[in-house]
Amino acid sequence: MDDLTNAFLELVRLASTDLAPDVEQALIDARDREMAGSAARSALDAVLQNVSLAREQSTPVCQDTGTPIFYIQHPLGWSTKQLREQIRSAVAEATALSYLRPNAVDSISGVNSGDNLGDEAFPTIHFTEIEGEELIVDLMLKGGGCENVGAQYSLPDRRLAAGRDLEGVRKVVLDAVWQAQGKGCAPGVLGVAIGGDRGSSYYGSKEALFRKMDEPNPDPNLDAFEERVTEEANRLGIGPMGFGGKTTVLGTEIKGMHRLPASFFVSVSYMCWAHRRRRMVVRGSDIQYS
Ligand code: SF4
Repeated sequence: MDDLTNAFLELVRLASTDLAPDVEQALIDARDREMAGSAARSALDAVLQNVSLAREQSTPVCQDTGTPIFYIQHPLGWSTKQLREQIRSAVAEATALSYLRPNAVDSISGVNSGDNLGDEAFPTIHFTEIEGEELIVDLMLKGGGCENVGAQYSLPDRRLAAGRDLEGVRKVVLDAVWQAQGKGCAPGVLGVAIGGDRGSSYYGSKEALFRKMDEPNPDPNLDAFEERVTEEANRLGIGPMGFGGKTTVLGTEIKGMHRLPASFFVSVSYMCWAHRRRRMVVRGSDIQYS
């Protein structure tokens, strides 16, 4: 297999400095909905100006460039060991070039590695073998402020009177949004997993965030449910950066998962307005980014 280190470096640069068009459009739509002269509109104007400047100057969209999380779908025969090594080299190089802030801190010693390389889970890399000839690499940069307000619920939840059904899911997701107010840099995007165990459920909630914002959920029932949750979250009035306003979340993306009969977890990964995710597809010598 070819050495893809430089291709991974470009993927990291794009993710950090150039917000994907669907996310930027969602921010523009949100700005246009807010009243002229309002704090909410000013906040979104500043965000959009920042997005343009970052793209023009190839500098990070936000100072916290987050945890790099890679989801890799690879054909039969690709070496995941080599791919991991190339990704780690690209991440270290991206840090040296200031596309990434050094973010990998040893939790025991408190020492920052300085190059974003930590243990096996930093950067996080998930591999899945797929049919076909394409290598598909999705990268998300998940900021710390929004990661801190992620939440997991075990239904039934007595405090919220939330049972083991979609109505219960609606209650806990709205609770997560309410608890996050003033933190996590709204307006954000809600990645939600329904089911799984505690670990796989959080994993699924991040995976849900890779769907483009203008793409409907393939399950029409979940698609309608996502719309409803987004509308109700936006009626909470928290608004951009917590200043009040019409947009608290830009969208909701839900993934259903299998679960044990005894468990019903709902995991919410809150992604801030700096929803940095990019895809790279490799077909032979052709490499495309989106
Ligand atoms: S939550 Fe997002 S926008 Fe806010 S500081 Fe962190 S990465 Fe930046």
